Amino acid sequence: MASMSLNPDPRTAGGAPLTEAATADADRPTATRPNAADAEAAGNDAARPEAVNADAPRADAARTSTPDATTAAAIAELTPELLEFRRDIHAHPELSFQEFATTDKLAARLEAAGLTPRRLEGSGLVCDVGEGPIALALRADIDALPIDDLIAEDFASTVPGVAHACGHDVHLTGLLGAGIALQRAHETTPGGLGGRVRLIFQPGEEVTPGGALRVISQGALDDVPEIYAVHCDPNVDVGRIGSRIGAITAAGDTVTIRLTGHGGHTSRPHLTEDLVYALGKLATDLPSTLGRLIDPRHAISLVWGEISAGHAANVVPSEGILRGTLRCLDVDGWNQVAEVLPELVERIAGPYGVKVDLEHRRGVPPVVNTEDQVALIESAVRTELGENSVQLTPQSMGGEDFAWYLTHCPGALVRMGTRTPGGITYDIHQGDLLIDEGSVPIAARIFTATALKVLDGKREALQPTG
Ligand SMILES: [Zn+2]
Ligand SMILES: [Zn+2]
Repeated sequence: MASMSLNPDPRTAGGAPLTEAATADADRPTATRPNAADAEAAGNDAARPEAVNADAPRADAARTSTPDATTAAAIAELTPELLEFRRDIHAHPELSFQEFATTDKLAARLEAAGLTPRRLEGSGLVCDVGEGPIALALRADIDALPIDDLIAEDFASTVPGVAHACGHDVHLTGLLGAGIALQRAHETTPGGLGGRVRLIFQPGEEVTPGGALRVISQGALDDVPEIYAVHCDPNVDVGRIGSRIGAITAAGDTVTIRLTGHGGHTSRPHLTEDLVYALGKLATDLPSTLGRLIDPRHAISLVWGEISAGHAANVVPSEGILRGTLRCLDVDGWNQVAEVLPELVERIAGPYGVKVDLEHRRGVPPVVNTEDQVALIESAVRTELGENSVQLTPQSMGGEDFAWYLTHCPGALVRMGTRTPGGITYDIHQGDLLIDEGSVPIAARIFTATALKVLDGKREALQPTG
């Protein structure tokens, strides 16, 4: 019953810190960790803040009026409501670009908090908190997947064939909590937040090339200097994050090659356009030749999943098809392969006289996390969840359309642990994915702490240096 826990106890012990750079201000005192240094000295476990223990931060909030104290108290107080909100979203998942009820629920709750959400065309919304220039954007995706929900919980999906099996219900609820908490801080702190935080609730992450492009085309990223996101990771314990500078996901495209030609009798291949032979040459030579034309450090991987042509032993067919996926670890390689692929296909198939029709459907580029933004979010997480809460994560060969935002401005996406310590390791995009609900308020805290840290840094930058 991992997901039923309302008072999670995320383990933060163990694991190696990722970068030294990010530790610089991890010791900054905050309302949520008043005795962090003492606790760290006594042992890692003791340094853990209680994820949803409202008492300590609330007491501090009464004594101080810093945004940190206000938001910590607000998230603690909001947690039961956030858990309920997430369960409702989980029970009523909506597919990509169909997230109308989800958008309505988010808009209603943000409006109740005194905010003014702006609906995007179709589904999804953008909402600003605070005043003045935009300091940063925080993004959550909001769509579900076309698979059956297999979890045996009373908040399992009520929609056959649709499930929040990628954890976007957790992302959007965490961002909602952060928005409400930041708004409270803005209202109650003298001078407010000192800048504007843009919340982006993005539709359609699960389809190619991704709803991020729609969001960007509607101007939501205009004047946004940096952007952050979290993604659930069931391979990491709740209370920890996985982080990485540089590419953290991969590019994934689909390649389809259709050949047509003049068929005939296999006894007279010279009178035909032998497309079975040409298909074979393409299937073997195309991946290997790409490997000779493009720097292997880009790790281009072209793997075929389908090849078909003909249905008789003695007939050269007149059409055939080859389909596969093309993956790549970085943007440069991704762009290079798109340039060389059409000519290469023509050259390999050329001698056989067949007509070639190449369809290279580009997916998303890799998410390339920028160094400064990784340092910032890691530092915010360490302050919030404990010194040992950050671990290095491997680059995934999967895709994420957050990559599109990072082609416009710097930013970082981190993997947020959702596994109950000692519990089952699930996988995303599987119907049985069960997320430790402790990750819901933690997502809110990561978003909030990141926003406050960016705002802090920009406020200092405006101080006279005398
Ligand atoms: Zn997904
Ligand atoms: Zn996802």
